[in-house]
Amino acid sequence: MLKKIKCPACQVEGTMSLVELDYIGPYRCWKCRALFTVEIKNDELVSYKYLSEEELKKQQELRETQNKYKKDD
Ligand SMILES: [Zn+2]
Repeated sequence: MLKKIKCPACQVEGTMSLVELDYIGPYRCWKCRALFTVEIKNDELVSYKYLSEEELKKQQELRETQNKYKKDD
């Protein structure tokens, strides 16, 4: 499912593919390259906050670690 998200920085609409109606995670604007952590609930963007490249990297590493543990189960 494709979800339209309006960039809070430049107001340009972008799309992102979502598996579920609820999502919390990184979104990068294709236009201004701004990074956000967005929270979507029931298909609505309810909150967002700016995210730095460093934080994004940390989140991705954390997710990889969690996936690793899941596989071991
Ligand atoms: Zn933007």
